[in-house]
Amino acid sequence: MRVVCPHCLAVNNVPKKESYKKANCGKCKQSLLDTKPIELTQAAFDEVIVNSDIPVIVDFWAPWCGPCKMMAPNFEKAAKKFPLKVLFAKVNTENEQNLGARFGIRSIPTLMIFKNGQEVHRVSGALDENSLSQLVSQFI
Ligand SMILES: [Zn+2]
Repeated sequence: MRVVCPHCLAVNNVPKKESYKKANCGKCKQSLLDTKPIELTQAAFDEVIVNSDIPVIVDFWAPWCGPCKMMAPNFEKAAKKFPLKVLFAKVNTENEQNLGARFGIRSIPTLMIFKNGQEVHRVSGALDENSLSQLVSQFI
């Protein structure tokens, strides 16, 4: 399956397994198991969405949004539970206004889940860590 490196955004081919002990990026050699949410810009967005065979959850947020800031640590913690299962990504709608407009984001935080390049789910409002985990689990 194709996965996008969270460090350099290179596309890697990784065998699909139940769990992984080690998997490094062929390009930058850093671990593909690192799950810190990646920041997506408009330039990278489609490449990542289209080249990821694992679901991608995108948090549309903004620096001035209180609930977004509250959710950020939950999002990071939930991401740790899904190495090579779900890619966690964030879009700063303040910097990437075109992406917000393209997806018709009216309130933030809004979470969108993409699978095989298509939007499969969308939910608005901040979620706690467990709700985030349950949400993405449905799409693995
Ligand atoms: Zn890499």
